[in-house]
Amino acid sequence: MKSALPNTLMLVLASASFLFAQGARIRVIAIGAHPDDCDIRSAGTAALFAAKGAAVKFVSVTNGDAGHQTMPPRALAARRLAEAKESARRLGIEYEVLNNHDGELLPALDVRKQIIRLIREWNADIVLAPRPNDYHPDHRYTGVLVQDAAYMVVVPHVLPETPALRKNPVFLYFEDNFQRPNPFRTDIAVAIDSVIDKKIDALDSHVSQFYEWLPWVDGKLGDVPKDPSERKAWLKRTGTGAINPETRASLVKWYGPKTGNATKYYEAFEICEYGAHPDDARIRQLFPMLR
Ligand SMILES: [Zn+2]
Repeated sequence: MKSALPNTLMLVLASASFLFAQGARIRVIAIGAHPDDCDIRSAGTAALFAAKGAAVKFVSVTNGDAGHQTMPPRALAARRLAEAKESARRLGIEYEVLNNHDGELLPALDVRKQIIRLIREWNADIVLAPRPNDYHPDHRYTGVLVQDAAYMVVVPHVLPETPALRKNPVFLYFEDNFQRPNPFRTDIAVAIDSVIDKKIDALDSHVSQFYEWLPWVDGKLGDVPKDPSERKAWLKRTGTGAINPETRASLVKWYGPKTGNATKYYEAFEICEYGAHPDDARIRQLFPMLR
C-alpha cells in the first residue's frame, strides 16, 4: 500500500496535465454594467477561480463616466478604467471596459453584438451577469443583453466574423435583493472567507466609487475614514452582511454542515434558464472550489 500513493498521485497529475492540454481550463466571464459591478458580486469567487487555475475576465459594459458627483465624464472614465485594471491586478484576472456611456445603456443590437463577441472570444464555460429586474437601467439592460446573447453565441450566421461557440456556456445571475416579479433564488453559494480580504482589496481599488461617489449618493461622505487601512476596515464592515437561511442551506448543500455552517462570507448565483442546464455534478466540475 505504501507505493500506491505515489503511483496514484502521478496518475492524477498526468490526467490533470492531459486535461489542461485539451483546453479543459475553466473559463469564466463576468459581465456587469459598471466598472465595479462584477467586483461587488463576484470578486471573491473570481479570486478562488484564479487560484484554481481558471481563466477569469470581468467586463464592464459601460465606461462608468456618470458615476461621480464632481469629476467630469471623460476624466472619470479614464480614472475608472485605471481602477478596474488595478482591481484585476489584485485579483489575478483580466478586466475589459467597453466605451458605452454610463446611464445611457439600451438593449440595442450593436451592444448585443459586443457581448456575443466577448463571450465567444473568451470561449466561456461560465457567464455571470445581473438579473434583468434590477433598479438601475444599466444593470437591467446588461441583464437583458446577456440573456439576448445566451443563445446567439452558438449561432454561426450571427456575427460570422467571430466563430460561434460549439457548446453553450452556463449562464448565472449575480445575487440581488429585488423581489418583483420574482426574488433571487440561491442555486450556488460560494464560501469566500479565505479570500474576503482579497475581495475588499479589489473593491478598495475603486476609490472613486467606494470612498467618493457611493457614500455621497447615500449622504454618508462624512463617514468615510481618511486613513487607507481604516478605510478598508470600514469597507469590510459596511459592505458585508448577514447570511439568510436560504443561503445557509445552499452553503451546507455544497460544502457540508461543518464548513457550510461556519462560513461568514459568501457570494451567491442563480442558474439562468437559458444556455446550458448543469446538474449538480456539472456544477462541481465547473466550480472547483466546491469539490
Ligand atoms: Zn453598477
